[in-house]
Amino acid sequence: MIHKNFKNIDKVVFGRGSFNNMAGILAERRNENDKFFLFIVDNYFNGIELLNRIPAEPDDIIKLIDVDPHEPTTEQIDALRDEVLNTKGLPAGVIGIGGGSIMDIAKAVSLMFTNEGSSTLYQGLNLIKKPGIYHLGVPTISGTGAEVSMTAVLTGPEKKLGLKCDWTVFNQVILDPELIATVPTDKWLYTGMDTYIHCIESENGILNNTFSHAYAEQSLKLCRQVYLGDEAGQTPENNDRLMVASMMGGLSLTYSEVGVCHALSYGLSKILYMKHCYANCLAFQHLGDFYAEGVAELKQMLQQHNVTLPQGLSKDWSDETITAMAQVAYNLPHMWHHAIGPDWKEKITVDYIKQLYNRF
Ligand code: NAD
Ligand code: ZN
Repeated sequence: MIHKNFKNIDKVVFGRGSFNNMAGILAERRNENDKFFLFIVDNYFNGIELLNRIPAEPDDIIKLIDVDPHEPTTEQIDALRDEVLNTKGLPAGVIGIGGGSIMDIAKAVSLMFTNEGSSTLYQGLNLIKKPGIYHLGVPTISGTGAEVSMTAVLTGPEKKLGLKCDWTVFNQVILDPELIATVPTDKWLYTGMDTYIHCIESENGILNNTFSHAYAEQSLKLCRQVYLGDEAGQTPENNDRLMVASMMGGLSLTYSEVGVCHALSYGLSKILYMKHCYANCLAFQHLGDFYAEGVAELKQMLQQHNVTLPQGLSKDWSDETITAMAQVAYNLPHMWHHAIGPDWKEKITVDYIKQLYNRF
């Protein structure tokens, strides 16, 4: 058994209003490198009050990014790095303010400031050669766990794969639940369900252990408070809970693994460009034979918030599309190994995965 030796975030501040701590946190770093900060902010905040609360000084760069057209790409990271280096030099640090997409962009670009060439060279585990620059994450939508994970997922010309190493992990995270208050209901649900699914998959597999279980158990309890029963909804108390649940779900899977749903979801994202959290919800509803209780509970959560997922999609998918997706999913052996066991290849074939997609 190879045990995971994982670097955690250096510092975490949690609480409503903790965004206001940023100026003090950054002051200690301002004199590093070429003495300016690069703020990468979700374009949603353009024209919104939060933008004015960013403690930027005249020399700093604020880069607004629209994350909706596509998930972060290697090309996008390389271009951003080159533009900043060519105009202003090496920042003292990178601050990402947004969802999983912005978290990944901030993590990736912080590494690429110090590692030469294209980010495509570093997609994989421990391929990065030098530590990146200081990076701080401020999530504004909760669920993916990208704020705590050791990977920055990028889509490149050949693969969708993360820059994964100890140096990817944020130096600092600010968890201010007030920032997620404006998330629309559907995104609040899909992204939150990513946490829920992380925990169910982490728990249901051979890598589950006391450490990952403790995080998953607590995270699931918080998810149930947020999404089920009379107290459910986007209240300040539930925003506190969801933010902590996201982080704990991320930690649970870090020390265990995700499973069948994430494998199928990667196929949907790579071939049909579906967004990660939505693709997970879409896949999970059909996986009752793997995660019976989890699927029943997720359906209950969707129902309580009047979110319906499309059915019968596979009718419109060609055999070629389904085969391509099944190949992507099959090529995630660590997930199948965790979910099914060491002999997974005897049970799971590309044809079997095609049958799973045909349920969609
Ligand atoms: P996202 O960052 O793509 O944002 C989703 C939407 O929510 C966007 O439209 C955004 O503008 C909006 N939004 C964000 N904050 C808001 C706010 N406060 N109010 C209103 N709208 C707001 O969403 P996500 O689901 O958090 O992240 C998905 C990405 O995360 C994918 O690219 C996926 O690959 C990646 N991911 C990474 C990891 C990891 O460990 N690194 C894990 C899972 C997913
Ligand atoms: Zn996920």
